[in-house]
Amino acid sequence: MKKTYQAEPFRIKMVEPIKQTTRAERITLLKNAGYNPFSLKSDDVYIDLLTDSGTGAMSQNQWAAMMMGDEAYAGSRSFYRLESVVKKITGYAYFIPVHQGRGAEKVFLPQLVKHPGMYYISNIHFDTTRAHVELAGARAIDSVIEACYDLDQDHPFKGNFCLETLEKVILEKGPQEIAGIIMTITNNSAGGQPVSMENLRAVKKIADHYGIMTIIDGARYAENAYFIKEREQGYQDKDIIDIAREQFSYADVFLMSAKKDGLVNMGGLIAIKNRKDLYDLCRTYVVPYEGFPTYGGLNGRDMDALAVGLEEALDEHYLRYRIDQVRYLGDKLRAAGVPIQYPIGGHAVFVDCKRFAPHIPFDQFPALSVTNAVYIEAGVRGVEIGSLLLGRDPDTKENLESRTEFMRLTIPRRVYTSSHMDVVADAVIAVYQNRKELKGYRFTYESPILRHFTSTFEPIL
Ligand SMILES: *Cc1c(COP(=O)(O)O)cnc(C)c1O
Repeated sequence: MKKTYQAEPFRIKMVEPIKQTTRAERITLLKNAGYNPFSLKSDDVYIDLLTDSGTGAMSQNQWAAMMMGDEAYAGSRSFYRLESVVKKITGYAYFIPVHQGRGAEKVFLPQLVKHPGMYYISNIHFDTTRAHVELAGARAIDSVIEACYDLDQDHPFKGNFCLETLEKVILEKGPQEIAGIIMTITNNSAGGQPVSMENLRAVKKIADHYGIMTIIDGARYAENAYFIKEREQGYQDKDIIDIAREQFSYADVFLMSAKKDGLVNMGGLIAIKNRKDLYDLCRTYVVPYEGFPTYGGLNGRDMDALAVGLEEALDEHYLRYRIDQVRYLGDKLRAAGVPIQYPIGGHAVFVDCKRFAPHIPFDQFPALSVTNAVYIEAGVRGVEIGSLLLGRDPDTKENLESRTEFMRLTIPRRVYTSSHMDVVADAVIAVYQNRKELKGYRFTYESPILRHFTSTFEPIL
């Protein structure tokens, strides 16, 4: 067999210097940040894996497109260029730009809520999506397959809907009480796990049977299409764009945070298949919330960069590099015995800190402990996704225990090389080898809402 050679499918034309610090400096920096990685300055981070949202690198073609931006308040050329790309990719008739994903949620989700107390059902609602469902007076129900919570089970599509639960909820609440079904692809809160085409098709069939609308929350729809091509029977010879189009054919509406698979630092969109009435409503509401419907909170130049980024993100060579890079990091960790969620998802490696630091109880935040130790080890910033993030019971004020305690290592798009991934892996493995020394944390200040962002801590020695 002929060997295939694979590395980053780009070369680097412009560089952004990053600073390396000493271990002694990092110990002080972290202490001054109240042991909360969110309070570190980006300058004091060597490799930043906090999020893949808006942190990607734009291409030469995107930067060139920015020079063509038309900043007209109404009817900008940039809008029409972006509109034609969105229509081509989705096959939908209507398009409205917004400033980011939550802008799309804020404008669209209330439109299907006819009275308070209706329900949206999703495989798993992303947290801003859940917030906008609730702000719209509706309630959010998740219906993901049970395999999603088994961190070791080798399942190709752990982001799938549980169809039985979905149908049960529809019948229990009554179809007329369901505002819509939200297909999150890939399933962000489940570790960027993909959803199969077969599952999307089945959800659409159920939705049609009960007369319910389907919405794709598709920040990472291109990564999802790549997983389908790789793993689902019958898709190996299909083009990514055709797989993407088939995904869109099973929904009526597409909401997107373009900060992920749009390959831009800020942006979002709403696309609607054929419901002119809904489009008119969104056009009405986008004006006070985001801006006039031909800019929706975006600069003309940003719309041009997004038009190019959407096409680049569907390039199969790019997608292979993208998914392989995340997998490369995960496989290295796994080979060294570090417990991670498996199979590895599309945008991040989730390190299982329940097994990494079993001696630290949930209310001393094992994943925060691992994350802080990895920062001290090599200046790498991950993020806690566990009981600290989950917060307290609103009634009893007790700390809630999360089902999982993760350190998420989220990989920005086209930003770091595989040598950077080697540094990250070496740092996590070094911490793993000394895991018995890890200490739990207690609050020195606990912020009353969204406490993970601004609280401060001290180690329990
Ligand atoms: C990021 C994300 C959002 C929210 O988008 P923002 O651009 O951060 O406002 C919504 N849904 C999913 C699945 C996401 O990943």
